[in-house]
Order: sequence, then C-alpha cells, then structure tokens
Amino acid sequence: MSIKENLERVRQNIAHAAMKAGKRPEDITLVMATKTVDAERIREAIREGEHRIGENRVQEALKKYQVLKNEDAEWHFIGHLQTNKVKDVLKFASMIHSVDRLSLVEKLDQRLQYEGRSVNILIQVNTSHEESKYGVAPEEAVSLVKQTAKYDTLKIRGLMTIGLFTKDEEKIRKCFKILKGVHDTLIKEDIGGVQMKYLSMGMSGDYQIAIEEGGNMVRIGTAIFGARNTPDAYYWPSEKTGIDKG
Ligand SMILES: *Cc1c(COP(=O)(O)O)cnc(C)c1O
Repeated sequence: MSIKENLERVRQNIAHAAMKAGKRPEDITLVMATKTVDAERIREAIREGEHRIGENRVQEALKKYQVLKNEDAEWHFIGHLQTNKVKDVLKFASMIHSVDRLSLVEKLDQRLQYEGRSVNILIQVNTSHEESKYGVAPEEAVSLVKQTAKYDTLKIRGLMTIGLFTKDEEKIRKCFKILKGVHDTLIKEDIGGVQMKYLSMGMSGDYQIAIEEGGNMVRIGTAIFGARNTPDAYYWPSEKTGIDKG
C-alpha cells in the first residue's frame, strides 16, 4: 500500500469515528508519527496534504528537520524528553506533547526566557500505570498543570496519553476515559492561561477508540508508513526493557 492509499484509509476511519463521536472530521487533528521514517517519505506524505510531523527523538528529528525545513509543516515532539535535550527540541518543535514533570518545565522555561518566546505544550498523563514510566500520574496531573501554568513561556493546550498496549479493547478504552476525566476536571478548574483544546490520544491500533472517547488529536505512524524495523522499545524506554538511550 502506498502512503497515499494509507492516508486515504486513515482519513476515512477518522471521519467515521468522528461522526460516531458527534464530531466533524475536521475536528480531529492528525499528527503523523514519523520515527524511523526517512525525510523523503515524510515529504511524500506532506505532498499528500498532511502537515503535522511528530517525532520521538530529538537528534533524529533535527536531521530530518534540516532536510525538510522549507516544507509547509508543523513539527511536534511526542517522545520522552530529557532535560539535556531542551535546547535542541526548541530548534524545531512548535508543540511538545510529553511534558510530565516540574524539572522539565523549569528547564524549558529557562531556555524559552533566554530566547524570549513561548511554546505550546501538552501534559503527558500516564493512564496505564504499570506499562510505562513516563507521564504524570492521573491523580497528580491537575497539580502539575497548576504549577506549570505559572510559567508564561509554556502554553498548556491540552493533555496527551499513550493507551495500554493490549488487545483488550476495554482496557484501552479505560486509559482514554481516564485522560478525558482529567481533561474535564481541568476545564472545571478553569486555570488561568490553560486551554484544554487538545486531547492527544490514539495511535494506529487504537485511534478510532480514542476518538470515540473524546480524543481530537491522533498520532499515527504504522497505518500511514507501514511497519517499523526498529523496535518501539528503543523509543519508549520502559522499566521492563531497561532501555533508555537518550
Ligand atoms: C510511534 C508513536 C505513535 C504512533 O505509533 P503507531 O502505532 O505506529 O501509529 C504515537 N505516539 C507516540 C508517542 C509514538 O511514539
């Protein structure tokens, strides 16, 4: 299947899920998850009309950004962000999906103050507990948002989560419901400067479920570009594998 055909199918599925959720297709924002995908194939997808690129690793992203920076594209950072990569991530990313701790907030703020600007962020919530060590716990998310909101360099635009990796649909759905619950609480809290505009949830295997549960930003890789050769453990350091190569 070509990138073009894959994109057509993904867009149809998004439209269908959006309708089920009482939304319009254009209410759902597609971010292409482009880890391991080379610059020329990303360019092909841009030619097919998609403009949001989500990368997981800062150095890999910077290399592709050098090649593609004249393309009409918006770069998102969706992977785990180490504090020592803050300066580099800000060279390309206009939205960071993975802000999950105050130490990172402080580092981002320092650098952004120095550059005299701001960046859009999402707070990453760990809705599957045992499976991942990244993301703030759901019960601590409101507190982290409140603390982060004090930094005007960081524009909080919503929340992000990675659903549980399982074939059990109900367990996946539960993750998304947790994120939607935190989102609803934050809307009620109405914290100054915080916009709960995006719920970034859903990947190739579960984006329809995520949209049904209220997600409006999906991050899709495999369903557009095909299977990756590099194991995801390389991108998602987990307690189980112990892989964390920065
Ligand atoms: C790779 C990745 C995705 C997309 O995964 P696919 O299953 O290939 O669609 C989404 N979000 C994050 C954070 C990723 O690392």
